[in-house]
Amino acid sequence: MDLTYKQEDLAFRDQVRTFLKENLPDELRRKVLARKRLTKDESIRWHRILNKQGWVAPGWPVEYGGTGWSGLQRHIWSEECALAGAPPVLGFGVNLLAPVLMGFASEEQKRYYLPRILNADDWWCQGYSEPGAGSDLASLKTRAVRQGDHYIVNGQKTWTTLGQHANMIFCLVRTGTEGPKQVGISFLLIDMNTPGITVRPIITLDEAHEVNEVFFDDVKVPVENLVGEENKGWTYAKFLLGHERTGIAAIGYSKRELKRLKQYAMRQQTNGVSLLADPAFSRKVAQVEIELMALEMTALSLVADGASKKIGPESSLLKVKGTEISQAISELFVEAAGPAALAFDKAYLDGDSEHSVTGDDESAALAAHYFNLRKITIFGGSNEIQKNVISKMILGL
Ligand SMILES: Cc1cc2nc3c(=O)[nH]c(=O)nc-3n(C[C@H](O)[C@H](O)[C@H](O)COP(=O)(O)OP(=O)(O)OC[C@H]3O[C@@H](n4cnc5c(N)ncnc54)[C@H](O)[C@@H]3O)c2cc1C
Repeated sequence: MDLTYKQEDLAFRDQVRTFLKENLPDELRRKVLARKRLTKDESIRWHRILNKQGWVAPGWPVEYGGTGWSGLQRHIWSEECALAGAPPVLGFGVNLLAPVLMGFASEEQKRYYLPRILNADDWWCQGYSEPGAGSDLASLKTRAVRQGDHYIVNGQKTWTTLGQHANMIFCLVRTGTEGPKQVGISFLLIDMNTPGITVRPIITLDEAHEVNEVFFDDVKVPVENLVGEENKGWTYAKFLLGHERTGIAAIGYSKRELKRLKQYAMRQQTNGVSLLADPAFSRKVAQVEIELMALEMTALSLVADGASKKIGPESSLLKVKGTEISQAISELFVEAAGPAALAFDKAYLDGDSEHSVTGDDESAALAAHYFNLRKITIFGGSNEIQKNVISKMILGL
């Protein structure tokens, strides 16, 4: 298999680079590269710039507003976005909910929600996990009881990413109690402004407000907000999880961070010798680089034209390796920074102040970033669960 870029791929890459150069606002780019937290408005701003160009949902079928790009072109697009320091799009709508709607929703739901997802008219969050249902998701207990034209929802979701910004949540709820626990789950779209919903922040190790608990007390949800059939939600839930893992490998992001790590380590000098020249440190950097190259080759072989279009259990391989590599780079950054990484300037991280109190802006966000990245081996299906998938589905054990 030929994994080098052809002339037309290089031309596509140039087109993408030109677009990013001309349209990515400098203040957003600088904030992303400084590892600062984006506001809701900033995230929506970039999403809408992409929508105007027709590039916000490259993976969607053209009929719904996708680009018609090949797998390789999509790979190039996400890599170039990461290298340029572009913010992510609102992924819960574009990457997770939309495929479920396209596959299982009514025509009316598709007509209503899909254009709104493209234009970020709704901010979606994901209501899957509960205190007793994470890896074992089918144990979820949030109940939805049908009363006339409504469901009455009671229960609790947790780890709801950016739920504080959301006006809509897609939820797995229990509508039946007969038979195995996978049966009796339904997929509901719920307006977050409905009376009875409470969102409570969970502050993470990096002092960020990124996740929440969401409580439902007698929340009335119109039956037309059910997606697909009642009690068939587990099928849709699994379909969505397959989409959640693809893209989580963040190869472009790791390439960018590795390059920045080398530049950073080069500038850390002891007695005139750069840290990058230190054999013990440079060996670790080389090890990560080798693993990243191997991951990129694996990903390219999966998306290259001629290879199977739909990525199956291989997405688990990409997820495990990609997240391990991203974490390893963040660890090396902290190692390279030494005590400078200890600075923890919340005002700087939240974008409330332009510069860190320490004066060393580049190091100020490293510890928070390191702590924040602990999540990536947990969400999207923990890496242990992905290894179970690999052993069963790929290795046949
Ligand atoms: C930052 C963050 C953001 C998140 N955002 C969302 C969100 O927006 N919406 C949402 O619904 N959820 C979200 N999640 C939840 C996430 O999907 C769950 O945390 C994840 O599925 C793991 O579930 P758990 O936390 O309950 O851990 P558990 O399932 O209790 O697992 C605990 C440990 O046991 C291991 N383990 C469990 N079962 C097995 C097994 N069968 N074999 C081997 N090891 C096993 C796990 O790998 C883990 O190490 C988020 C989580 C985090 C950390």
